[in-house]
Amino acid sequence: MSEDATEMQDLYRELILDHARQPRNFKRLADATHSAEGINPLCGDKLHLYLVVDQDKITEISFQGSGCAISMASASLLTETVAERSVADAVACVTTVTRRLTTGKEEASATFDLGKLRALDGVTQYPSRVKCATLAWHALRAALNQAGAPATTE
Ligand code: ZN
Repeated sequence: MSEDATEMQDLYRELILDHARQPRNFKRLADATHSAEGINPLCGDKLHLYLVVDQDKITEISFQGSGCAISMASASLLTETVAERSVADAVACVTTVTRRLTTGKEEASATFDLGKLRALDGVTQYPSRVKCATLAWHALRAALNQAGAPATTE
């Protein structure tokens, strides 16, 4: 591995730890129009997403939960990524991110800039960690579908 690549990995680790320690948008939204739970029994990650969708746009998004650093950081990054997006855009983000984390492949058709989400790429090498990283995204899809059952990685 080149020195640059190692440095990048360090930066990403910092970013994940920062988001895990101080998750963004970590609160309950009392006036949520959509919400969903996500559970990853393998690792013990649990989270609850709250969204306010107004005229097909996500005007507010937050989450609460507990779990490993990757699951919390991923949820925190998710809230930053999809806030202010249309529902269709957010669904496209879910597809792109989950496919990327599951297969490790760059999506040529990605409709948004992955940006900080690249910090999660390292999990593709650890199948059990992939579920930690995708949990919040599954929950987001469930919330937008308004599915009654909790999203689970199993
Ligand atoms: Zn986990």
